[in-house]
Amino acid sequence: MRRHGLFWHIFPTYLVITALTVVAVSWYGSIALRSFFYEHAEGDLRARALLLEERLRGELDGRGRESLQVLAVELGRATDTRITIILPDGLVVADTDEDPAVMENHADRPEIVEAIRGSAGSAIRYSHTLGMNRMYVAVPINSDGKVRGAVRISLPTTAIDDEFLRIRQRIAIAALVMVVIAAGVSFAVARRITRPLVEMRRGALRYAQGRFGHRLPVPASLELASLSETLNHMAEELDRQISTIRQQRAEQDAVFYSMKEGVIAVDTDERLLTINRAAGELFEVDPVSATGRSIQEAIRNTDIHAFTSRTLLSSDPVEEEFELLADTRRLLHARGAALRDKKGHRLGGVIVLNDITRVHQLEKVRSDFVANVSHELRTPVTLIQGFVETLLDGAIDDADESRRFLHIVHRHSGRLNAIIEDLLYLSRIEQDAGDSRIAFDRALVAGVVETAIDVCLPRAREKDMHIDLTATGDSLTRVNAQLLEHAVVNLLDNAVKYSERGSSIGVDVKEQETDVLIRVRDHGVGIAPEHLPRLFERFYRVDKARSRELGGTGLGLAIAKHIVQAHGGNIDVESAPGKGSVFTIVLPRI
Ligand code: ADP
Repeated sequence: MRRHGLFWHIFPTYLVITALTVVAVSWYGSIALRSFFYEHAEGDLRARALLLEERLRGELDGRGRESLQVLAVELGRATDTRITIILPDGLVVADTDEDPAVMENHADRPEIVEAIRGSAGSAIRYSHTLGMNRMYVAVPINSDGKVRGAVRISLPTTAIDDEFLRIRQRIAIAALVMVVIAAGVSFAVARRITRPLVEMRRGALRYAQGRFGHRLPVPASLELASLSETLNHMAEELDRQISTIRQQRAEQDAVFYSMKEGVIAVDTDERLLTINRAAGELFEVDPVSATGRSIQEAIRNTDIHAFTSRTLLSSDPVEEEFELLADTRRLLHARGAALRDKKGHRLGGVIVLNDITRVHQLEKVRSDFVANVSHELRTPVTLIQGFVETLLDGAIDDADESRRFLHIVHRHSGRLNAIIEDLLYLSRIEQDAGDSRIAFDRALVAGVVETAIDVCLPRAREKDMHIDLTATGDSLTRVNAQLLEHAVVNLLDNAVKYSERGSSIGVDVKEQETDVLIRVRDHGVGIAPEHLPRLFERFYRVDKARSRELGGTGLGLAIAKHIVQAHGGNIDVESAPGKGSVFTIVLPRI
């Protein structure tokens, strides 16, 4: 159904009612006016007729007939009316305008019928003789208590009709003016009623679109004012509640998105309800575009698909660990649970993912370390035990043999001691660095390196090696000289150990804008690339037998790394088998 605005309901209705009223009143008024005119004219004619009747009473006998005609003509001309005198049988005896002899019998004329009966009669009809409407009034002429005839006076109605027409035209113009005014007033009233409603409708539409900043004007009428105030109040309330909800939502989103753990929520059809940034990064998907899609479509990982199905099927929380094969291998720990609404209805499932790669690595490093320590300690202990037992079993009696065995025992106990000392040293650095207990002073790095060279020089000389120092800059750097010296000694010690007799070692100290470089270069055996990433791990050795033979503990580089890290710096290695190695320490200049 086609709907029209309220305006088009009010305005035409008002207009039609007003127009009908005006037309009806004008119509009735003009009719009443016309009958008033006629009655007035009729009364006038009757009065004249009665006056005439008095004069004519004695004139109706035969002798006065000619004078009657003269009288009728005279009086008729004088009063501008037509006078007709008729006998009771309808015979016309005198007439102002016509010759009575040629006039037909008037006995059937209604006004005459009335007059002959004894009372005044009147009629309006069209006169064929004169070609116009006329009003006729006839009164009886009484004499001696008998009706002797009738006198009739007539007037053309043209004057009345013309007058009436003029008045009717004026009434029509007035009515038209009234209708136009009424239309204007109706228009204004309809507008007055509908405009606030139109504004309210616009305002309500704005509210429906979520724009609550605008307030509706309050109209003058009580009902509309209260409606408008209610709408405004509703908008304020909605605005407040929506802002609160938005803020809460933003806070929740912020928490959710900045969580380190990956979170995925799915509905019962395995469609993603939400996925946070961490989960998006794990599976390389965009959280925004993935939301709403099925998990099979959005995430390319069969393990998570299977785990999601398991979560949705199980009524208890489920857990699983699986590997993620991306650029790097990652180990994920997934925990899944049912997602329920307040009433406990199942909406889907929520999965929390933890990247446990690092934890796993640390755990592995720890267990490797324990295994390595046990192994490293057991070897010399077993050897010592073996030689001591041999001595006790009788070898002690052989002086040369026992001396040889005791030398071996001495060497291995020394090694045991070296391992324990290095381990203790390492754990002390770790603890001190963790508790920020390491004391730093301002010192010249080149000076520290020089002392380290002095410490290693005797061992280098034993192998006919020389150490060349090149140093630039003379500013002081925040260091713990003792620890730094230890780290450089470890690097120089390795350079001496893993180089051929007679080769040279270069040490550079280079001050740069933000850091100081210490570089130890040798021309020794070098290291194959596959060992480089693990070289700084505790007990990691490229060639175990050789390292042991050379008295290494496998902890030298680990210690050096911890010392450098305690200084806020880092250590790196470049090496190639047969070409030598370059170890570089970078210390920040704070
Ligand atoms: P180690 O006590 O066995 O020397 P480190 O921690 O000092 O233990 O070194 C670990 C391993 O790195 C060594 O066993 C050795 O194989 C290798 N390495 C260290 N420095 C050098 C070097 N300058 N040249 C060649 N190999 C080296």
